[in-house]
Amino acid sequence: MSFSDLGLLPELQRAVADKGYDSPSPIQLQAIPAVLAGRDVLAGAQTGTGKTAGFVLPILQRLAADQANGTSRSPRALVLTPTRELAAQVAQSARDYGKYMQVRTYQVFGGVSINPQISALRSGCDILVATPGRLLDLAQQRVADLSKVQMLVLDEADRMLDMGFINDIRKIIKLLPQKRQNLLFSATYSDDIRGLAERLLHDPLSIQVAPRNAPIELVEQRAYRVQKEQKRHLLVHLIQEGQWRQVLIFTRTKHGANRLAQQLEGAGIRAAAIHGNKSQAARVKALDMFKNGHVTALVATEVAARGLDIKELPQVVNYELPNVPEDYVHRIGRTGRAGAAGEAVSLVSSDESGLLRDIERVLRRSIPTLPTPEFNIVESAQLPDSRPDRPYGNRPQGNRSQGNRPQGDRPQGDRQGNRPAQGQSRPGGGHAGRDSRRAPATGGSGTRSFGQQRGRFR
Ligand code: AMP
Repeated sequence: MSFSDLGLLPELQRAVADKGYDSPSPIQLQAIPAVLAGRDVLAGAQTGTGKTAGFVLPILQRLAADQANGTSRSPRALVLTPTRELAAQVAQSARDYGKYMQVRTYQVFGGVSINPQISALRSGCDILVATPGRLLDLAQQRVADLSKVQMLVLDEADRMLDMGFINDIRKIIKLLPQKRQNLLFSATYSDDIRGLAERLLHDPLSIQVAPRNAPIELVEQRAYRVQKEQKRHLLVHLIQEGQWRQVLIFTRTKHGANRLAQQLEGAGIRAAAIHGNKSQAARVKALDMFKNGHVTALVATEVAARGLDIKELPQVVNYELPNVPEDYVHRIGRTGRAGAAGEAVSLVSSDESGLLRDIERVLRRSIPTLPTPEFNIVESAQLPDSRPDRPYGNRPQGNRSQGNRPQGDRPQGDRQGNRPAQGQSRPGGGHAGRDSRRAPATGGSGTRSFGQQRGRFR
């Protein structure tokens, strides 16, 4: 099946060909004809499946067909997204796919000056991509006129609800015409999402697609037991020993992301942090530096990383485990995109054992816990917590000391009571450097092979 079989206009087929896609992805195969036919759609799909083109292409086509009514300067399609990055990405996709058509797309989101957005909206657009808060502001200021919206897309609806946007979404929906087409995309289905779908959608086509990079099959997952305060040292070791070139690291808090990025920099690893407190310009810059290889480690909070389209990411690290097990699936889904194998490494401190168990329950498989490797404790005088935020800078000379002997692994056993394998301690070892201490006792549990317990996550 090719894009031409889906009944897309030649202009859209040309734009898709320019992108180099040869065939539609499963979500596109199902969503495009349904949206073209004017149906509501409920799609279970996450980033990486090609969902954006699944709604953007048919929206462009329907808007083009309705060009006679296109004299209105008010948006006729509205896409709501949880984050600024996703809004920017979706809007860019709409411009890319619509480049041979006369369709104007504009995006609005918070964290940047509202004035250019006001001017742009006044000059008019056909597709408006927005985060809910800023859109409401603009609507309340009577700059965004939503009365002509014929198509509404809620992209990553689960994340929007997680972020507390439900009231904003309800208010926005009240500003839309009753008669319209509704598309809801969500990676997970909670009761809240089901409730929203029931209220919003009329006789929807339900589509469920597996992530393009089914994590269970393609992502090599492993965990290390490590004391909380030593995670950063182990992380430095893993990055350096593994010669990782591009690693996305998840922390729980914005402050934690900043601090870790600084600590990595101090250890000679180029790092940047990306989170909601950063200006839009800083976030875009950090992402670009990461994508083009100038930054090795991108430290992100869950929300900031959500929806980022980074191609074929080789490594993801859960520096802290997520509280919500489904987030683990999203996080590790960032690796191994487009069929390339990826690695997901979780650093698990003792207080996170329960979270790990919850994740394993959702995955319906165990995550192999490997013996914690020997690593050095590198203390750097350059790294006070209060050091000003410096996302990227000169790469300092590495200050690792070599050849420390581990104090040995303290067996902890895993939750099934298996005894751990012996740690992979290196024999011999010299003296620690002045700025270095020996690795503390850390526990690891027995290695299980990746493929032993197969199961599908839901
Ligand atoms: P999305 O899930 O919409 O974030 O898309 C993930 C990535 O897949 C983006 O980089 C798209 O450019 C790419 N993509 C979308 N559709 C296709 C397709 N049919 N063939 C190959 N790549 C695609």
